[in-house]
Amino acid sequence: MPLSGVVNGSTPMSVPGPTTQLPSSAPSLDLERYARQTILPTIGAEGQGKLLNSRVLVVGCGALGSASANLLARAGIGHLTIVDRDYVELSNLQRQVLFDETDVRDRIPKAAAAAEKLQRINNDVVIEGIITDLNAGNVERLASGADVIVDGLDNFETRYLLNDVAVKHGIPWVYGGVIASYGMTMTIRPGSSPCLRCVFPEPPPAGSAPTCDTAGVIGPAVETVAAIQAAEVMKLVVGDIGALNTSLLAVDLWHISLDRVPLPALNPSCPTCGRRDFTFLDNATPSQTTSLCGHDAVQVLPQGAQKLDLGELRRRLDPVGDTTANRFLLRFRPTGSAHELTVFPDGRAIVKGTTDSTQARSLYARYIGA
Ligand SMILES: [Zn+2]
Repeated sequence: MPLSGVVNGSTPMSVPGPTTQLPSSAPSLDLERYARQTILPTIGAEGQGKLLNSRVLVVGCGALGSASANLLARAGIGHLTIVDRDYVELSNLQRQVLFDETDVRDRIPKAAAAAEKLQRINNDVVIEGIITDLNAGNVERLASGADVIVDGLDNFETRYLLNDVAVKHGIPWVYGGVIASYGMTMTIRPGSSPCLRCVFPEPPPAGSAPTCDTAGVIGPAVETVAAIQAAEVMKLVVGDIGALNTSLLAVDLWHISLDRVPLPALNPSCPTCGRRDFTFLDNATPSQTTSLCGHDAVQVLPQGAQKLDLGELRRRLDPVGDTTANRFLLRFRPTGSAHELTVFPDGRAIVKGTTDSTQARSLYARYIGA
């Protein structure tokens, strides 16, 4: 049975969550839940109304995404959409606060596990989990209607794509990144504050930046950056613009430092917000394979839109290996092979046991079809 509010694949955002009414219009809504934050003069009943009527998109639901989504669902963001392509693994639990050992055992996709958990925490708001790969082909549709976007991504390529979309459609977004005990965040209001490319003109070359795999990461650093991101979202939604972070904020939890790096002025020659040249969005050739941070794995995307019948695929694969399935995905290990394929209904697959995209594509073609 599909989980209420969870959408598998790159489905339009009009798919209804558990309720289609915005919660503020529900007469039975008990605002007692928010009493401790509405006391704050900067929020008040009016601010709470704005939070309850807002739509926030969280892209990536690893450590940062699950920590900020947790805070935002509790704060009463009326419609929270969580997009993630991955499933929960044991090494996530050290810092990814929305997941538990049952999610690991059942290999639940992160967007689904997060939506389910948050809906239990706050059933007055709409939580939509979307299990998909965020890319140039779907990002505009996913961002459509969002008041704010929260960055919970694990790679720069997608972050520059997000910056393009946010600037193009004038949606504020909150950048966040964490590595080891160190984290950074910055709030981008297109047209009013410098965008990601004003500050970092080009993404770092692939493989040059440390990742959570190579340098590690501690939970407290994640929580700190995610907490700042969530507070920035709340300020944006209630309209307390003067209180926003106007720097590149850098924090180190181990050595206890907090630095505010001043941002440059809006750059009229910035390709993105100055010249409105959305290179990452417009020139993206959807790459068929992506190495996944945190796994010895490669994601393979099908050519064009697909809709796989996982039951039928399972019957086809059963004779040639071990298969297991849950509501969201099919897992297959070919007999005698060290590889494992996790297949989603939209045709996307995560091939584990390799970082070689050619090998991943070949396994995909052999067992799932080109
Ligand atoms: Zn810019």
